[in-house]
Amino acid sequence: MPDVIVVGAGVVGTTTALYLAREGLSVTVIDRSAEAGLDTSFANGGLFTPSTALPWCSPAVPGLLFRWIGRESAPLLLRPSAIPSLGLWGLKFLANCRPKKHAASSMKLTRFGRESLEEMDGLLAQKTVDYQLSRGGLLELFRDDEGIAKRDDYAYFLEGLGVRVSRITGEEAVAIEPRLGPIAGSIRAGLHLPDDAWGDARKFTLAAEKAARAAGVRFQLGTEIRRIDAPNGKVKSVETDKGTVKADIVVVCAGSFSKSLLAPLGISVPIAPVKGYSISIPAADLNFLPGIPVVDDTARLGATPLNDQLRVAGTVEFDRYNRAVRDGRVQNLIRALKSLYPELTLPKTLNPWCGFRPMSADGLPIIDKTKIGGLFINSGHGALGWTLATGSARLITNAVTGRPGPARPEFALDRAFW
Ligand SMILES: Cc1cc2nc3c(=O)[nH]c(=O)nc-3n(C[C@H](O)[C@H](O)[C@H](O)COP(=O)(O)OP(=O)(O)OC[C@H]3O[C@@H](n4cnc5c(N)ncnc54)[C@H](O)[C@@H]3O)c2cc1C
Repeated sequence: MPDVIVVGAGVVGTTTALYLAREGLSVTVIDRSAEAGLDTSFANGGLFTPSTALPWCSPAVPGLLFRWIGRESAPLLLRPSAIPSLGLWGLKFLANCRPKKHAASSMKLTRFGRESLEEMDGLLAQKTVDYQLSRGGLLELFRDDEGIAKRDDYAYFLEGLGVRVSRITGEEAVAIEPRLGPIAGSIRAGLHLPDDAWGDARKFTLAAEKAARAAGVRFQLGTEIRRIDAPNGKVKSVETDKGTVKADIVVVCAGSFSKSLLAPLGISVPIAPVKGYSISIPAADLNFLPGIPVVDDTARLGATPLNDQLRVAGTVEFDRYNRAVRDGRVQNLIRALKSLYPELTLPKTLNPWCGFRPMSADGLPIIDKTKIGGLFINSGHGALGWTLATGSARLITNAVTGRPGPARPEFALDRAFW
């Protein structure tokens, strides 16, 4: 039986390992962290959003990027020091903001989001993974003066993608989430997306790890992969800080670090780290926990109740691989949360965190074989890695096992990305 190594124990790698093991393959997951799910999958927004699985390269983004360049309080921040590092990726990202490109990519992603939810439902129904996804939809609020027009345009766009959408008023939003009562007057318009779900991606990763171990997967944690060895165009082993590990197949699921692992093999992967922040407040420290996730379109933040905590996530920052949790960015989240729930009393401990969304230049993941025999990639999920992990695990498993499945050129490594 071939030896398969999965690089990365984030939500994508762990789910991939589980799917591969269920096909009877001998799988080892290697990750430099001490536990699974400690990098970008650790404290993300928790939104499982097939209804709004849209690429971030959208027609509005170039204007906002340049308007807010260097502005610390902006939801979308391009640090001038990061510009040189974006290079060709940046140009491709901008090219993908064209309306036609955005619409086509949105169609592909929402379809894939739905497939991923079906895949997740199957996994949970079979009790393969001991986990519960919360269902009940998502509320999106529009609070600025153009709120109704913006909401209507957005709803029309989503309906064109086949998404179920309800246009609602401020009062109707409050009827769904009564804790929004104090800001009812400022909600110009709202959307209810009944098919969206939510849950803690880290907890799912740990549950998937448990299921994978039960299916025979080995986890070699605390081990850094330095190089993938592929003499004569075929994978042979990986070099780690603990020695060499033989491999017939390697699946790279290393999030924002996939690019640097593959570059020495002459494989170019247009993925850039797009930094985001979250705070996680234990429910026991709050005077109330909302009942449903709310996305504030104006502040560009999502507040998600995760059973035992409130997760507030958002902000977009181009800051290279800088892991500094900057207080100004955290304060933006806190301010936006208070404006959403003015009656929420916040404790001192907010557990601020930042992570790097592994963003491909066209906003679609890369799920494919490479030009090296036995070498595969499942990465570049950007702001949607939790939403797309199960669908992606299914597709890459089909590719590894040679199982017939529909061709998915939209996720191919050799697509144009323009
Ligand atoms: C603020 C924020 C909010 C978000 N909100 C949402 C959301 O609401 N919904 C959603 O669907 N998505 C969301 N995302 C995106 C989502 O979190 C990511 O797409 C997802 O976590 C990526 O998973 P991954 O497994 O590819 O990467 P990671 O979780 O980063 O895992 C990659 C793993 O590879 C390991 N690794 C890398 N290089 C090496 C090496 N050389 N050797 C050994 N190990 C290595 C790392 O240690 C890491 O554990 C959000 C992201 C952020 C930052």
